[in-house]
Amino acid sequence: MAKIQMKTPLVEMDGDEMTRILWAMIKEKLLLPYVDLKTEYYDLGLENRDRTNDQVTVDSANAALQYGVAVKCATITPNAQRVEEYHLKQMWKSPNGTIRAIMDGTVFRAPILVKGVEPFVRNWKKPIILARHAYGDVYKDTEYRVPGAGKAELRFTDENGQVTSQTIMDFKGSGIVQGLYNTDESITSFARSCFQYALDVHQDLWFSTKDTISKIYDHHFKDIFAELYETEYKEAFAKAGLSYFYTLVDDAVARVIRSEGGFIWALKNYDGDVMSDMIATAFGSLAMMTSVLVSPHGQYEYEAAHGTVTQHYYKHLRGEETSTNSMATLFAWTGALRKRGELDQLPELCAFADKVEKASIDTIEGGVMTKDLALLYNGQAKVVSSEGFLDAIAQKLA
Ligand code: NAP
Ligand code: MG
Repeated sequence: MAKIQMKTPLVEMDGDEMTRILWAMIKEKLLLPYVDLKTEYYDLGLENRDRTNDQVTVDSANAALQYGVAVKCATITPNAQRVEEYHLKQMWKSPNGTIRAIMDGTVFRAPILVKGVEPFVRNWKKPIILARHAYGDVYKDTEYRVPGAGKAELRFTDENGQVTSQTIMDFKGSGIVQGLYNTDESITSFARSCFQYALDVHQDLWFSTKDTISKIYDHHFKDIFAELYETEYKEAFAKAGLSYFYTLVDDAVARVIRSEGGFIWALKNYDGDVMSDMIATAFGSLAMMTSVLVSPHGQYEYEAAHGTVTQHYYKHLRGEETSTNSMATLFAWTGALRKRGELDQLPELCAFADKVEKASIDTIEGGVMTKDLALLYNGQAKVVSSEGFLDAIAQKLA
């Protein structure tokens, strides 16, 4: 059988630990036998990031902007313990943070639903897609450890040298202070990608912030969304029978839990970080959550929402068998291949991505799965190893 040909390469961002192992197995067992896989390969494994002084991360993000579609493996975000473990030159920044800062845009996370694994929230019947603003706020903050009494001020100097200054706090003793920012440009493109994505996937859009407390910062997000909706999207939403709904973030949390799902929930950067783990876990497993970063200019970076599954990797290093779920990493590949197929008009490549996804869902619905899912499965599950799971999918696919 002739392999499916590609036109433009995918930007491939390899990663760390257990997911790096799954990465290689996915390619070997499910992709390379069928696709003449063209990729621009970047090794974002921690050793190579350290060797290149993290230049490889920047290069990979620029390649994603250039080629339009990237697929990324989970990577270690170094902390003090990792600096020691890997003898790092320094505590390199989160690769995802670096990539998001370069690509801008919005991260959409959607759970993979399979029959037999029911959400913890009984009334959730449909996926909840979480849209996380991927720029600024606490991820690009400036922090200061206030050593003792003194005045902290918020100062802005405009282009003409005009200074506006406000007191943040008159410290009587030591404390902490933090400066955050965002830009109209980034918030607008966040809003735009949310409205656009809602129309693409035909789902209602919810947005929430803490505008009652943060009367300028959060309120500005609310205003930008409202204005863009009024001026550019209201008609298209009405035509599609969709709605845009704004509510306070705490009210939204309560409503989300009581809902039956089936909408996009847009959140600021930090809220999205926290809530996406809650949503992923409540839908069953972190290992079933997919993630795509969509830039305002239509470039895409696909990945799993979970990390490098360190505990499983240590087991693997000890020579023990692991049962790590590769679904989200696999769906990152299929998402990227399908998007590449759409952009390059390769229907065969799109159809292949559909088939791989179907084979993997059929495998689980047929009762064959990794340990994390077996714990949640309503029925008789056959627990297989990390590799056994991919072999079972490969068999179905063949
Ligand atoms: P994690 O890798 O997501 O794993 C947390 C736990 O969730 C695992 O120990 C495992 O539970 C379960 N789990 C996650 N993915 C799974 C899968 N595919 N199959 C089965 N179980 C799965 O998070 P972490 O342990 O907090 O972080 C590990 C490393 O990943 C860190 O260095 C962190 O910096 C990095 N990280 C990277 C990204 C990214 O690149 N996008 C995101 C988050 C974290 P059990 O052990 O109970 O089986
Ligand atoms: Mg997180």
